[in-house]
Amino acid sequence: MNTKFFCPHCKGILSVNNQIVFTVKKGSKQGLLFLSPHLGDYSVWHHPEFHMQEGEIFNFHCPICMADLSVRGHNNLAALRMEEDGKSYTVVFSQVKGEHCTYKISEGSIEASFGEHFANYVDFVSASMLK
Ligand SMILES: [Zn+2]
Repeated sequence: MNTKFFCPHCKGILSVNNQIVFTVKKGSKQGLLFLSPHLGDYSVWHHPEFHMQEGEIFNFHCPICMADLSVRGHNNLAALRMEEDGKSYTVVFSQVKGEHCTYKISEGSIEASFGEHFANYVDFVSASMLK
């Protein structure tokens, strides 16, 4: 499968070495975060000196253009674009540390959802993010 993730603002490719790279910020705290490109795999890599506590909300940013990837209307969620085998999707995921939910959206519907907390935002995503 040929998958690539990119920023919805600058179109910069965030897929690096089989991970997705973000800049994350919470107040004066900021760091680089690498996530698994496999939807539903919540593996995270960051420097051990960068601390994240369960339940903290970090704002995910594009590390290229620094755009805030937060979803309009819901600070707990971020979105990026994904291309898989020539088809494009919006991928929405939680910015809350320890909250596991991911939505793969294409052509006005949630094509798949992942994570044990997926039910938390189904209503919001359905009402606000589908056209
Ligand atoms: Zn960008």
